Amino acid sequence: MATECIFCKIVAGTIPCHKVAETDAEIAFLDIMPVTRGHVLVVPKRHVECVTDAPPETMANMMRLATRIAHAARAGLRCDGMNILVNSGAVAGQLVPHVHLHVIPRYEDDGVRIPWPHGSLDKSVAPELVSALRAHL
Ligand code: 5GP
Ligand code: ZN
Repeated sequence: MATECIFCKIVAGTIPCHKVAETDAEIAFLDIMPVTRGHVLVVPKRHVECVTDAPPETMANMMRLATRIAHAARAGLRCDGMNILVNSGAVAGQLVPHVHLHVIPRYEDDGVRIPWPHGSLDKSVAPELVSALRAHL
């Protein structure tokens, strides 16, 4: 546990939350500033800061619980779709430095727009990118 971490305090029960689900290793609760109705955060109980600090099993287990929540959001909230995402690192918009996965139910006409500025893959650098990644897998 990181003593000053908000999510560690939620896991410990010293800060309240609206708990949706809990397993041995994760807790899921409503986001306090929801993007849409039923926005849930899936948080590992063990403090790790970001994706690259987390063992792959941790991320996989979080995704397993997120998928269960996704099904529940379809059935229980009648959402039309969802965004499931992780902001990892301040540059990616991570505000709480305890890794977490957002399950954001989406509704027709919810007005939410995610403005990804799409580029175009430069085929001349693609092989270089692929080898840089493959070298570390
Ligand atoms: P990030 O930008 O780090 O991916 O997202 C952090 C999320 O945590 C935000 O959506 C924010 O609303 C949520 N959050 C921050 N503090 C609290 C809190 O004390 N309780 C709950 N339930 N959510 C929080
Ligand atoms: Zn923490």
